[in-house]
Amino acid sequence: MKVAVFSTKSYDRQFLEAANDNKHELIFLEPRLNLSTCILAHECSAVCVFVNDELNRPTITQLANEGVQLIALRCAGFNNVDLQAAKDCNMSVLRVPAYSPYAVAEHTVGMMLTLNRKMHRAYNRVREGNFSLEGLLGFDLHGRTVGIVGTGKIGEIVAKILKGFGTKLLGYDVMPNPECKEIGMQYVSLQELFAASDIISLHCPLMPETYHIINDDTLQQMKDGVMLINTSRGALIDAPAVVAALKSGKIGYLGLDVYEQEADLFFEDLSTIVIQDDVFQRLLTFPNVLITGHQAFFTAEAVQTIAETTIRNITEFEAGQPAPQNTVSIDRLRR
Ligand code: NAD
Repeated sequence: MKVAVFSTKSYDRQFLEAANDNKHELIFLEPRLNLSTCILAHECSAVCVFVNDELNRPTITQLANEGVQLIALRCAGFNNVDLQAAKDCNMSVLRVPAYSPYAVAEHTVGMMLTLNRKMHRAYNRVREGNFSLEGLLGFDLHGRTVGIVGTGKIGEIVAKILKGFGTKLLGYDVMPNPECKEIGMQYVSLQELFAASDIISLHCPLMPETYHIINDDTLQQMKDGVMLINTSRGALIDAPAVVAALKSGKIGYLGLDVYEQEADLFFEDLSTIVIQDDVFQRLLTFPNVLITGHQAFFTAEAVQTIAETTIRNITEFEAGQPAPQNTVSIDRLRR
């Protein structure tokens, strides 16, 4: 199959070429996919895309006109795909539902530890010969209450790691996970979780029900000085509300691996240009904010599994046997 691979980075190419082993004709393209770049998929039967490619109705319609039949996502989330438009254009959507939940979970806990013990600040201080401990006071994780919103594959592993620290675990999910209950997680309402947690970590998908789940109102329900971590999807958080909560002290620590407007920022070296996003720039000024550029998934194990599953998805689609568990469709979502 001829496949246009959008948003290609050197590591995508390296792992996809190894997994492909010349089975498909992969056309590696650096631009992100959107309406103005979809012409690059000319004569391709599939597009292979990542989290910030824009698969809205106009783009999908144009891709269908170019002869594209398959959208192969190199990720688990599919919030960037208009599934109704894909159905209307008779286009299949395949994803990588699980690659390494450990990668994201471990990064999440890394953010908690960094923020609590202020490693990001200590690293810089020591390099400048400043060994003062003023301002570096942390707290024991042991005995603290952690609230996990979304206790699927990643949330479950975060919970299991945190259990090792001796934390009390609260969970909120529309479908509670028996594995989490088994390790002692207590499922509560979202309001109860917000009110009782010292640390809140988001691991639910982005969907209409979870859009801006963290907003002015829900922030007011939280403890003063709460630690908030989001390694899920940027639009779970209303960023201006979070800036206000950082200024008032309601939020004491903020860790973000994702950001609602990240499509214009992440995965690129923008170190020589002026960033125009004032909310993002304001976030960077707080000493108690740690931001990484959507790198939680980025381990060798995860990237290799993503590449192998993506190539298998394309091969099985070509053979007329797409894996049902990797297929995303508006009909399955409504069931
Ligand atoms: P998953 O499907 O295994 O788990 C998601 C959980 O959220 C499920 O248990 C589901 O029942 C729950 N959920 C659904 N609607 C909810 C709601 N309204 N409120 C609370 N919970 C709800 O997914 P996963 O593999 O654990 O991934 C979680 C999220 O992590 C993904 O949606 C994706 O956005 C994000 N992610 C981020 C990265 C990264 O690099 N930062 C990488 C992979 C995944």
